[in-house]
Amino acid sequence: MNAPASLPIAAPAETHALIAGASIAGAGARLPIFYPATGAQVGELIEDDAAQIDRAVAAARTAFKSGWAKLAVEKRQEILLKLHDVVLAHADELARLECLNTGIVMRELRERHMKRAAYNFRFFAEYIAHAKGEVYDQTPGYRSVVVREPVGVAALIAPWNAPTALASMKIAACLAFGNTCVLKPSEQTPLALRRFVELLHAAGLPEGVVNLVNGRGATTGAALVAHPGVDLVSFTGGTQTGRAIAAEAGRRLKPVTMELGGKSANIVFASADLDRALDAALVGIYSNNGQQCLAGSRILLERNIADAFIARFVARARGIRIGDPTDDRTELGPLASAAHRDRVLGFVDVAKADGAALLTGGKRADMPGALAGGYFVEPTAVRVGSSAARVCREEIFGPFASFLTFETYDEAISAANDSDFGLVAYVWSDHVPTVERATRDLAAGVVWVNTPMTRELRAPFGGYKDSGLGREGGEACERFYTEVKTVTVPSTPVAVRKLGLPTG
Ligand code: NDP
Repeated sequence: MNAPASLPIAAPAETHALIAGASIAGAGARLPIFYPATGAQVGELIEDDAAQIDRAVAAARTAFKSGWAKLAVEKRQEILLKLHDVVLAHADELARLECLNTGIVMRELRERHMKRAAYNFRFFAEYIAHAKGEVYDQTPGYRSVVVREPVGVAALIAPWNAPTALASMKIAACLAFGNTCVLKPSEQTPLALRRFVELLHAAGLPEGVVNLVNGRGATTGAALVAHPGVDLVSFTGGTQTGRAIAAEAGRRLKPVTMELGGKSANIVFASADLDRALDAALVGIYSNNGQQCLAGSRILLERNIADAFIARFVARARGIRIGDPTDDRTELGPLASAAHRDRVLGFVDVAKADGAALLTGGKRADMPGALAGGYFVEPTAVRVGSSAARVCREEIFGPFASFLTFETYDEAISAANDSDFGLVAYVWSDHVPTVERATRDLAAGVVWVNTPMTRELRAPFGGYKDSGLGREGGEACERFYTEVKTVTVPSTPVAVRKLGLPTG
């Protein structure tokens, strides 16, 4: 375990909304912001009420009408590329703010999250240059073209586990297709996103195109979703919240995308490259401090390799370096909040009550010095008898792996699919027919074969069942962030039936 260090960066004393490019203090509650590695309060967020949401939505509407929606694609691309550059140029500062607010390890933030956040703008800048349309000319004398137009003002709601990486995808896609937005970060993690939106303005983003409001989901988030000036809602977060938001949006017929929870199966067949599968199983559950929707949290092992695989997994899990997230040697930082730590650890008793064996971890990690107040949990793993166990059914969202074993291919697939979730699935095997079959049989929005998580932005990403509604990705975002209009034009003047003329 590493020695404690100082804060990654100083936070502003107060975090305010950013509306039409200006910082505006709300009138709501003052909520503390903590550094999860020490438990110290590092700032305060001022919650935004309905009046503030009104202002933000109005600013987004004004920006939409006054030019952003009609901007030439080349000009929009130019701005998106500048946004890419400014995010990259400030990647270290953004990573430090994100670390301060989430406790995610700086190395992961620098190398994955912030690069991805910048790349999202370049990706969509390039995508819109190649967007195609449809033409129908089968009806003689007519040509119909299908055009796509921006929808309007989007509400973008982001979770706390990867705030900037996830919200930047929404912002980039929303803007690329000519929409404007109001973003609401999780009230736990506003710091990096607040600075992110400020930087977008510094790079030349017109005022009002991206606005940011702060506050709790039940107050600020709910008011934003219900606001009549919001035309569509893109949400990433938990399944229960997703249901509530989709219901509210449905009442008003607002389109939604829902990127929700997961309980993804990581199936390792005896025919796999077991060394690689072991490395990936560890990464799949313990990276991002174990807090990721696409974690391979149910590890399904073919019985004849299970004992040896688990023994090696446990030895490696015990060797994971827990500690100061600013130290590049650290492999596992703290959980995001004290309440979340307690919830994750609560699953140890839940597992035992279901007859599971605790293999490793299951308690707070003792840390030295200032880190003693942090929300650290030891990498945890349990072995369960069946996928009926609650730790196999509920999303724990922490460094907590549940092992299951199987005898046959059918058992493996049936256990993998025995879940209310269906976000992603991982398959490890070098036997091509097994891989082929599994990719067809698994009920998940994404199947990764012989690889840890590898996001392909061009392809749709999203979940089956309780893991979501709709998809994100190149074309999927184009569909979501645009309205479709069919324009039919005759090639020569048409003969129109003449109503209302005198007869005879
Ligand atoms: P929550 O569902 O608790 O919150 C997500 C966001 O929604 C937060 O900004 C929250 O605000 C806000 N919110 C809460 N209630 C409402 C409401 N009634 N109306 C509007 N907004 C609301 O999720 P977490 O932040 O706890 O994130 C973890 C979850 O996100 C996990 O289940 C995880 O699997 C999922 N996730 C899914 C991903 C995917 O791509 N499928 C990716 C990453 C995470 P506040 O926090 O301020 O209350």
